[in-house]
Amino acid sequence: MNDIRTLAIIKPDAFGGGKTGKIIDHLESAGFGVLAARVVHLSRAGAETFYDVHRGKPFFTSLVDFMTSGPVLAMVLEREGAVTRLREVIGATDPAEADPGTVRALYAESKERNAIHASDSPDNARVEVAFFFAGVDLA
Ligand code: GDP
Repeated sequence: MNDIRTLAIIKPDAFGGGKTGKIIDHLESAGFGVLAARVVHLSRAGAETFYDVHRGKPFFTSLVDFMTSGPVLAMVLEREGAVTRLREVIGATDPAEADPGTVRALYAESKERNAIHASDSPDNARVEVAFFFAGVDLA
């Protein structure tokens, strides 16, 4: 996949906190189109698989608790340079370190409850899109 599609997840803090509309508005204003979207309440096994790279880290159990605490909105977003640009638009993992005006600076509560996920490479974007969406949904 070229760098034109990426996976975003509006996490349980932001989805349950009524921030979804504002975040999507922010992303559309940054030039992203929503190619596909679905609301999912992740199972523990699902969250553990999605965050497998963090298995064994001190925050892993807490992260899985958080990501399974309520529904999320998974989205495939499209634009040129999607992966790189979305990482810029969402800001640093910890909202205290995120640049002003980024999604996390505006809407995140903490380093864990940080409103949004975005794929960190085109290869991971391909894997993460396939985790949530069937190819038939992405024509
Ligand atoms: P991201 O790519 O910016 O989302 O960050 P990472 O891939 O490093 O971490 C995945 C997710 O785990 C983050 O978005 C946070 O929700 C959570 N996380 C990362 N680091 C920490 C940490 O030090 N403490 C806690 N409690 N959660 C963390």
